Amino acid sequence: MPTNKPIAVGEYPQYANRGKQNKLLTLLKEYRKTAYKIAKNQWSIFFAEAKFDRYANIKHIQSKLSERYKQTRLWQVVSLLESWTSNLANRFRQIVINSTLPQERKRALLYLNSFKGWFLRTPPKEWITQKDMKLARKIFKHIYHQWRKPSFKHIAMHLDQKVAVLEKNTHSKSFDYWLKVSTLEKRKPVYIPLKANKYIENLEGEFINFYQLIEEDGKVKVKLVKEIEDKKDRYIPAVEEIGIDIGLRPLIATSEGDLIGRNFFEFLKSYDSKITKRMAELQRKGLKPSKDKKYREILRRFREFLRSEINRYINRLIEVYRPKKIVVEKLDFRSPELSKRMNRLIQNFGKRYIKEKLRRLQEVYGIQVVEINPAYTSQECNSCGYIDRRNRKDTEEFECKLCGKRANAQVNSAKNILKRASLLGLRPTTAKKKVLEVLIKRHLERLKGCNSAALEVLRANPYYRDFLNPCGGRNKFL
Ligand SMILES: [Zn+2]
Repeated sequence: MPTNKPIAVGEYPQYANRGKQNKLLTLLKEYRKTAYKIAKNQWSIFFAEAKFDRYANIKHIQSKLSERYKQTRLWQVVSLLESWTSNLANRFRQIVINSTLPQERKRALLYLNSFKGWFLRTPPKEWITQKDMKLARKIFKHIYHQWRKPSFKHIAMHLDQKVAVLEKNTHSKSFDYWLKVSTLEKRKPVYIPLKANKYIENLEGEFINFYQLIEEDGKVKVKLVKEIEDKKDRYIPAVEEIGIDIGLRPLIATSEGDLIGRNFFEFLKSYDSKITKRMAELQRKGLKPSKDKKYREILRRFREFLRSEINRYINRLIEVYRPKKIVVEKLDFRSPELSKRMNRLIQNFGKRYIKEKLRRLQEVYGIQVVEINPAYTSQECNSCGYIDRRNRKDTEEFECKLCGKRANAQVNSAKNILKRASLLGLRPTTAKKKVLEVLIKRHLERLKGCNSAALEVLRANPYYRDFLNPCGGRNKFL
């Protein structure tokens, strides 16, 4: 990507006719073939010179693509190979660390690995031996043969201003842009009509001259890239931190008690019934949903809706609070009131869009995002700390079985989420059982020396069983 600034990528529905589509598909096919050849060439450079070469001469590589296209392709291939070898380096490191090799050999191997110098011809340091170099190559090859190489079969085609230009369509209302793309035939570009993606259009920033073409089920998808304005200098936080609970109804609850996106669930339900209805029709006809235009269109609109709603609501949150830090839990949302398919969709796409948005908050505003361990945040009473499965009556209401506190369930969770950021010893990856132990011990600590009536409630709660004295005498906590 030709920028270091934060970016947003979004699909712009295209309406090219069959003839134009076929030209694009032919182009894509040639593009991939060329990528494969370039990659092969890069690997031989790599084995000979121990690094890839972004500026390699590729004139000799046979392709129907213009030299301009080939050059764009070269950069994309090298970036891919670089990231693939970075993963390989991580694996290499693990293997060495977990091995029984003597310390000084480990050190030599890790040093070579640190700059991917597996194929250097001469040792880069006097304390590294030829034997070490040989072993490094051996470990590399071991992983190299085990792993699947980056494939160029499904890769997106990257277009820059050398081969594509975006123009606003001012002549008719049926679509919003033309994307002019050079093809394999000289001076015969195709013009692809595009409809705007509302989410991307509404983001503040500038389009960059960079486009992605992807093939899916024989159809070409077009993606545009927008560079988002950096607002770090102008963003002055008003509060230190807020906790948010992301759920379905509402979409967001804050530790300050706000409920944002109350209608969100109703929209989900209406999309759900549209999708379910269409699925039933297709099933009756024995058709695959992925092949159905109408179904795909509903899905595309749903994803656009989801993404722009998430963006809008989180923006509102930022405007109102201007926090320096946002505390969130590991995301997990589903509802028994939605179909399996819809649950899967929001799990996948909802999660992805929220992560994307939170990442952008970090990039654009410099807001710190902290992810906490979510275990029991919905069952813990924010007021007294009591944890009970029955505290959460249904999806919307929370009522503490110990102190009687009532609250909106998601607001209660949001408050717990915020508190959890400062609870030491718990990490997002800590096992659920361990989390429960920490929470219960802390709760019992708070109860110490008072309120023996509470003991009856606690005894009936399976969570507390292991932490209370079975004889009913003086407990080590109570
Ligand atoms: Zn309570």
